[in-house]
Amino acid sequence: MAQTVRAQQTQTPAIDAAAVLAWYDRHARDLPWRVSPTDRARGQAPNPYFVWLSEIMLQQTTIAAVRKYFAAFTALWPTVHDLAAAPLDDVLVQWAGLGYYARARNLHACAVAVVEHHGGVFPKSAAQLRELPGIGDYTSAAIAAICQDEPVAVVDGNVDRVVARYLALEKPVREEKPLVRATVQAVVPQRAGDFAQAMMDIGATICAPRRANCLVCPLEAGCLGRRTGNPLAFPVPPVKAPRPNRYGHAFVIRHPQGKVFVRQRGPKGLLAKMTEVPGSDWTDASEPAAFPIAGDWEPAGAIEHTFTHFHLTLSVWVLNADAPLDEGWWSDETRLSDEALPSLFRKVLSRAGLQA
Ligand code: SF4
Repeated sequence: MAQTVRAQQTQTPAIDAAAVLAWYDRHARDLPWRVSPTDRARGQAPNPYFVWLSEIMLQQTTIAAVRKYFAAFTALWPTVHDLAAAPLDDVLVQWAGLGYYARARNLHACAVAVVEHHGGVFPKSAAQLRELPGIGDYTSAAIAAICQDEPVAVVDGNVDRVVARYLALEKPVREEKPLVRATVQAVVPQRAGDFAQAMMDIGATICAPRRANCLVCPLEAGCLGRRTGNPLAFPVPPVKAPRPNRYGHAFVIRHPQGKVFVRQRGPKGLLAKMTEVPGSDWTDASEPAAFPIAGDWEPAGAIEHTFTHFHLTLSVWVLNADAPLDEGWWSDETRLSDEALPSLFRKVLSRAGLQA
C-alpha cells in the first residue's frame, strides 16, 4: 500500500507550515523553558540559557524526567554565569541519574566557554553555537531557531518520525536524513522557533511512537502515511545489531560505623570521573571474582544494566571491614545521594541493601 501511495506522488508533498503554526497557537505545550506563542507574539524573548539547558537535558530522555532536573539546575544556578562558576563535581552530582555523563561535563565546559569567550551571552547563530562544547548540529539549530527565529530546520527524533510518516518513507529514517531535513527546511516560516517547537510537539503528542491521532493532526491533509491506512508502519525500523553482553564484579565494602567505600572512576571512558564502588574490569565472558582484599565476602546477587552498546551483568559482593583500599573514601551510608553515583552503581548499592 505504501509503495502504491508513493508511486502516485510525482514529488514530495510540502508540509503546511501555516497549519502547523495555527495548531501550535492553540495547543503548544506549557514547558518551564518555553515562551508561549502568545507571549512570543507580544515580544517576549526566550532565555537562551534555559533553552540550551533543556535541549542538552532532553537528548535521550523525556520531558517528564527533565522537568525535575531543569528545576533543580535553575534553582541552584539561575544564570550561565552561576553554572560556569560551579565546581564540576557539583554539576555531576546534580546530573546523576540523567545518564550520559560526558554531556554533563560538556555542559559545564560550555557554560565556562560562554562566560569566558562571549561575555556570558550565548552566540546568536547556529554556526557560532556549534563551536561551543557539546553543541552539535541539532542543538545549535534548535537554540538559534527558538531564540533568534533563525530559519533553520530543527530535526529531532520526534520530527524524524513525523516526517517519515508524512512522506511514508520506505527506508529506515537514518538512511533518509537529508530528505527529512530538506522537507522541513523547505517550509521553515518566519516564526522559525514556534514552527520548530510545533513540529516537536506534534511528534510528542499527536504523531507519537505508538499512536498516530491523524484526525486532529494539522499535517493530515498531505500525509502519505495516513493515506496508507497504517501510519504506524513508519518509520520503517532499522535492522538492529545485537547488543553484546559483558560481565563484571562490584565490591561493596561496609564499615561498621555506617560507611561505604567508594572511589572516583578514571578520567576517560564510560562514566568517567563518576563515583563508583570498587570493581573488576568488564569482560566478554563471566570470570571468577578477584577480591581486592581478603575477607568473608558475601554474594548479594547480580544487577543488569543496559548501556547504548552493550548489556552489563555485575555480580555484587559485600564485605564488612574497616580497612580502606588505596584510592577512594568512606562515604556515609545516609549521605550516598550526595555522591556523583551513576544509576548503575545506585543499583549495585541497592542490591547490597543500601539506599543510594
Ligand atoms: S496525519 Fe497521522 S501519520 Fe501523518 S503526521 Fe499526522 S498523526 Fe502522523
